[in-house]
Amino acid sequence: MNRTESDLPIPEEFYNSETHQPFQACMMCNQLLADKQYVVEKAIKNYPSLGTKEIIFEYAMCLECAGKMHMELSEESRHRIENYMREHLKNKTHPRLDGLPDINKLLNHCVVNESDVNQSAEYSIYAMCNGANMTINQFPYALSGEVQDEIMQLLSAKSLGILDDFIGNHFTGPPEIREILKRRPVFI
Ligand SMILES: [Zn+2]
Repeated sequence: MNRTESDLPIPEEFYNSETHQPFQACMMCNQLLADKQYVVEKAIKNYPSLGTKEIIFEYAMCLECAGKMHMELSEESRHRIENYMREHLKNKTHPRLDGLPDINKLLNHCVVNESDVNQSAEYSIYAMCNGANMTINQFPYALSGEVQDEIMQLLSAKSLGILDDFIGNHFTGPPEIREILKRRPVFI
């Protein structure tokens, strides 16, 4: 099969770390992802003194569920996030290596403030996938914990309350991830 550069095999960084395979199902609606578009997030904690890192949580969510979640936010919250991302991502180009997107660099630097995410206490990496492939557009990227906190502060109390309800009603995964997700929803 011919692959364009906008369509690479999913790198192992975005595999389910328990099965060592791509994610199989959406954590919200449980539908299979084999022929769907979906987002993968892995949240990672660094232990600099030990020189190690640990995955705090990971999941895949189909675009339909991620879109629904996004639309639950108030218009004002959505605009604030859009403006924040537009402001911080303008004039930025994807790093490249030998003519291809430099995935390693993308996953090691915060897309917003360009810091080395290995220096942050926590960070997340995000990919957009399509079945067995990873789509290259504004994804994949990494966000430092500091920037994730900044983005959450753009949300109104009302939006946060609505997200709580939405996740409470739809989430089918483990309760500890549900609690984290309530404080840090997916944005696409
Ligand atoms: Zn879903």
